[in-house]
Amino acid sequence: MQTGDKTMKMTLAAIATALQIPVATPEWEQIIITDVAFDTRQLTAGSLFVPLTGARDGHDFIDAAIENGAQATLWQRGHAGVPTTLPVLEVADPLEAMQTIAKAYLAQVKPQVVAVTGSNGKTTTKDLIAAVLATKFKVTKTPENFNNELGVPLTIFGMDDGTEVLVVEMGMDRFGQLEQLSQLVHPDFAVITMIGEAHIEFFGTRDKIADAKMEIVAGMPATGTLVINGDEPLLTSRAATLSQTVKQFGRQATNDVYATQVTVQPTQLSFTTNTWPELTMTVPLVGEYNVSNALAAVTIGQAFQISGEQIAHGLATSAMTANRSEWLTAPNGTRILSDVYNSNPTAAREVLQTVSQLPTAGNRIAVLGDMLELGTASAALHASLATAIDPIKFHAIYLVGDEMRALQAQLQTNGYPMERVHWYAKDDLASLTQELQSVLQADDMVVLKASHGIHLETVLANLTTPE
Ligand code: ATP
Ligand code: MG
Repeated sequence: MQTGDKTMKMTLAAIATALQIPVATPEWEQIIITDVAFDTRQLTAGSLFVPLTGARDGHDFIDAAIENGAQATLWQRGHAGVPTTLPVLEVADPLEAMQTIAKAYLAQVKPQVVAVTGSNGKTTTKDLIAAVLATKFKVTKTPENFNNELGVPLTIFGMDDGTEVLVVEMGMDRFGQLEQLSQLVHPDFAVITMIGEAHIEFFGTRDKIADAKMEIVAGMPATGTLVINGDEPLLTSRAATLSQTVKQFGRQATNDVYATQVTVQPTQLSFTTNTWPELTMTVPLVGEYNVSNALAAVTIGQAFQISGEQIAHGLATSAMTANRSEWLTAPNGTRILSDVYNSNPTAAREVLQTVSQLPTAGNRIAVLGDMLELGTASAALHASLATAIDPIKFHAIYLVGDEMRALQAQLQTNGYPMERVHWYAKDDLASLTQELQSVLQADDMVVLKASHGIHLETVLANLTTPE
């Protein structure tokens, strides 16, 4: 993954050594590989092409790879059509080989590694940590949300040889995945943002989710530090059995780093911490849960001996990966808080509470879509959002998807006026869009929140584009 003119540099000889295979021709040995790519559309000149086999066979794309400037290619041993116009490294499994090369390149650059996982808040926390560390170090971070067994190697190949700290997001949806990623990067610092309900359908209990998240320490050296959300007993109990250093952040005063005062504003959050009580830290994010993400970044900053002022500066100027809570304005002036990429009960409640507190001359309106993968607790968790919906604060509620039927019923039980609650099937976003376009006024404030699978981004696109 190439960013700007920062590129990796690894000789074909070093790559072959990592793979424990010979380079066929001696004159190839000093060829410098400047990127590794498995998607020919992302491939830049000087790259090593990795033919992966998923829905399509990557080997079929070798001509496109060569056309885009591939300098060499991996090839699955025994696969037909071995190209003859560029160096070929034959391997048993190109994906495994790519991970092996990533490991070797990491060992070549030797940055300190900060790995970030958690049910929610990984990308946000990764961005905040990178912003804080960038005040003092040369930092490379996971681009966008590339957090799996393909994304972590791509993150590594995104480093130039001057990288001092690598901040890696790590996602997981099954046991064993984080262990493998942790063994790939050997994190000096491992961060767990929180334990939520994501993928509970698969794991069954939050206990099991916590077990799976703790795999992030599998590859952490004895000198490493685990940084956890100390408000979560499922994490503190597990961390207590570790031999490595543990640091805790959170809202409770029992943590190493905690917020002493929190102010929620329309487009930002401010807080003070126990470590620097005089210093107000500000993050350009909506949703109080982000205080906890910011505290994780403060904890990491402190561990890297960055001053409070520098940490505050990093947080205030942090560059966020797109697609999280952001304020937009419709052509008619309606203010829209968009959070259409991801949803969960905690975050949805907090965003509703945030919007309730913001002043507006018009109506507050909520558009809420299903929160997916909540398993057997789904109905109860959807219904639980009702506590954050006050009929005086919210003028109308638009619900999308079958799971939201439970919230509709709970609103009725709570005495919310039902003529102000509207339900749509998730394949009927066109009607919802039309309805919103006809009711939204200039002074109104609307919040959109749903799991990505509901695709509220299509509604958002229509609301924000001039007709
Ligand atoms: P993904 O699994 O898609 O990679 P992620 O863990 O990277 O998600 P983010 O992209 O940072 O998470 O945030 C996505 C959403 O998760 C936010 O919009 C918000 O709804 C929720 N969220 C973020 N941080 C927290 C937190 N600390 N506690 C609860 N919910 C959070
Ligand atoms: Mg993410």
